[in-house]
Amino acid sequence: MPATIYSLRPPQAPPTETGERLNRWVEALYPLHRCITGDGLRGTLQLLGQLIPVEVHEVPTGTPVLDWTVPREWAIREAWVATADGRRIVDLADSPLHVVQYSVPVRARMTLEALRPHLHTLPGQPDLVPYRTSYYAEAWGFCLAQRALDRLAAEGGEHQQLEVYIDSRLSDGALSYGECVLPGETADEVLFSAHACHPALANDNASALAVAAGLAQALMARPRRRYTYRFLFAPGTIGAITWLARNREAAGRLRHGLVLANLGDRGGFTYKMTRRGTLDAPQPIDRAVALALREEGVDVRPFDPAGYDERQFNSPGFDLPVGRLTRTPHGEYPEYHTSGDDLALVTPQALEGSLRALLRVVDVLEGDGVYRGTAPFGEPQLGRRGLYRALGGDAATPEAQRALLWALNLADGRFSLLDVAERSGLPFAAVRDAADRLLAAGLLEDHGPRTTDHGR
Ligand code: ZN
Repeated sequence: MPATIYSLRPPQAPPTETGERLNRWVEALYPLHRCITGDGLRGTLQLLGQLIPVEVHEVPTGTPVLDWTVPREWAIREAWVATADGRRIVDLADSPLHVVQYSVPVRARMTLEALRPHLHTLPGQPDLVPYRTSYYAEAWGFCLAQRALDRLAAEGGEHQQLEVYIDSRLSDGALSYGECVLPGETADEVLFSAHACHPALANDNASALAVAAGLAQALMARPRRRYTYRFLFAPGTIGAITWLARNREAAGRLRHGLVLANLGDRGGFTYKMTRRGTLDAPQPIDRAVALALREEGVDVRPFDPAGYDERQFNSPGFDLPVGRLTRTPHGEYPEYHTSGDDLALVTPQALEGSLRALLRVVDVLEGDGVYRGTAPFGEPQLGRRGLYRALGGDAATPEAQRALLWALNLADGRFSLLDVAERSGLPFAAVRDAADRLLAAGLLEDHGPRTTDHGR
């Protein structure tokens, strides 16, 4: 039965080949020195390009994009702080998190006291290194564990001389983003977007890059796709803004979309609704996600204008039907934006569960339909057509039978299969299967546009 096929494995089950494969991709993506521009971002797009066809776009520094401007490109070779006897207490070579992203170059000798405003720690999590950025304000700084800083202060005091070196360069270059477009039978598009700018953080956001690539591979393998699927891998905020500025036409064809993030941790799913779904009525993507994740549970939250790139897609001028799917949302797990968001936080089972959930969402979007019954007066005799079990009298009606009855009863041209699945409590796959059998028996006929055609 479809219900069994689609149920998720419990988290303690041994990882399957798919989960292991996604996990290997996270391991490969994790260490790259990603940033909103530069070679770490290009390397990430290149790595994704080995898994799926990715077209890389380079947008020159200074290009106006909506209310923003494409920034200068940042490159960094070396960054460290050393004691007078040459001992390096923070070093970019150990982790890209150790330097504030977009730090301007520095070569100086200063006391610990003078350096302190440039040092970032997490006093409440003294063993973790924070992730900090300063993209749009000229600054420089280092990130380190509070314990390492305390040790340094205890050993050498506030007036010890430290050598500070950041060999970085901000120069005219380009902002890179990657797209993978899988054409379908219609030009109507479904967008999956994942930010690709965080260095050495596993759940946020190597996990979503890997799951998105897995989803694209699975969709490529399908014999037919109703929708055109667009995967966008872009740096957070400025990347989405750049894409929107250059793709007004494609944005106009967008019927459904999801921002993907944090898909590898052990938490359950959280879905953030579209702006329009929150302010007006739930959009098809809002309903499709809730339906596809109904069995395993999903925390559905209204839209709010903070978060990832759903902010840009749901800005009032665009107001696109783009929701956001995560496991644990940003800021709600203790390792968020710290060195603790490492490979141990991500499991093959969680990655695979996320991929399966997204495939179920796609199945709803692809499989929705509106039908009209050809014999609506009384129930048509299903047994005669081989659609009903021969033996009556069971207390419980099997799922497949109930799906037939629901699909027939709501087939008055007003309701879609999405409505049928919502009202009946049956899995969408069971409802789709019933509709296919009724269509084959001539008891249903196609009737006009689907619920999911009304996105946007
Ligand atoms: Zn983040």
